[in-house]
Amino acid sequence: MVDISAQKALELQSEGAVLIDIRRPDEVADLTAEGARIIPRDMLEINLSREGLPSDTTVLLLCQSGARSSYAAKALRHLGWPDTHSVEGGFSRWLADNRPVKSVPFLSPSDRERYARHLSLPEVGTDGQAKLCKARIAMVGAGGLGAPAALYLAAMGVGFIRLIDDDVVEVSNLQRQVIHSEATLGVEKVISAAKRMQGLNSGITVETVVRRFDETCGDLIADVDLVINGADNFAARYTLNDLCLELGKPLIDGAVLEMEGQLSVFCHPDGGPCYRCLYPETPPSDLAPSCVAAGVLGVVPGTIGILQALEAAKLITGFGKPLVGRLLTFDATDSSFEEIAFSKDPSCVCGIGCMQLQKGAA
Ligand SMILES: [Zn+2]
Repeated sequence: MVDISAQKALELQSEGAVLIDIRRPDEVADLTAEGARIIPRDMLEINLSREGLPSDTTVLLLCQSGARSSYAAKALRHLGWPDTHSVEGGFSRWLADNRPVKSVPFLSPSDRERYARHLSLPEVGTDGQAKLCKARIAMVGAGGLGAPAALYLAAMGVGFIRLIDDDVVEVSNLQRQVIHSEATLGVEKVISAAKRMQGLNSGITVETVVRRFDETCGDLIADVDLVINGADNFAARYTLNDLCLELGKPLIDGAVLEMEGQLSVFCHPDGGPCYRCLYPETPPSDLAPSCVAAGVLGVVPGTIGILQALEAAKLITGFGKPLVGRLLTFDATDSSFEEIAFSKDPSCVCGIGCMQLQKGAA
């Protein structure tokens, strides 16, 4: 039988059936059935195929009145999920009969329109977008790496972004730092970047801190969910690593030089390795040339900065596999990526730090 009662649906749900609310986002508004996933009718087949839902899954569909879900159930039966059913009376009757419901993270109609391409993605959806909108990020450096990362984080709707940098925009920055412009030459980078980000998305908050990041800046990362490092020097990198370790904040680190770039996620609170596990000591200055001395191709920080924004999106929403214990390197000369796995160094300071963290959590 295609159509089943809400009571029967609840019984099947308790036995492992998947309940899907197929109403449009504006119909769902802020309420759905308890335990239901939300996949709009027009995305149903494509999303279930993409995620590879096993064909022996019992699928229960819920719409507003029970009509659309009945047609959709018949379609799914033909498309490879033969045990699909429609809940009679839809969500209207579900609500009238006091069946269990749950609230859906609220996104305003304008947010639903702005983030429509995210809401269609099973990896993000309404829950993931709501997490992005609530997320708080600190970004150290508003230059080559910070420029693309900040633009994409603003575009994706990350609710709070704190930019920390003490430089001003110079003409030699514009070859790669696309967040700035000729009109902001001489302006503090964080002010220039914030203006561009707010122009892209006025719904987010951008806080600017004109300050060089050092060991006294712990308060600037204590109240955020994660930290992105776009600073171009080793001192800031080690300082950030140690502060993130102490405060239990994931650190998305990136570095670029000439035609190459690399990134990784350090200090993950679940016990991932830190920057010192990979590079215990600061390299001698003659072995660590800066972009100023050696140069960098404009698109290299663009590539790495965007990947840093991607890692942030993964850590915030929970989809995919973040670069914890994995160093991703990029070579622009042959457009190749390589991955180097690394693990926690037992003799590293982070071992002690993590034990303290775990004790704190317990
Ligand atoms: Zn370590």
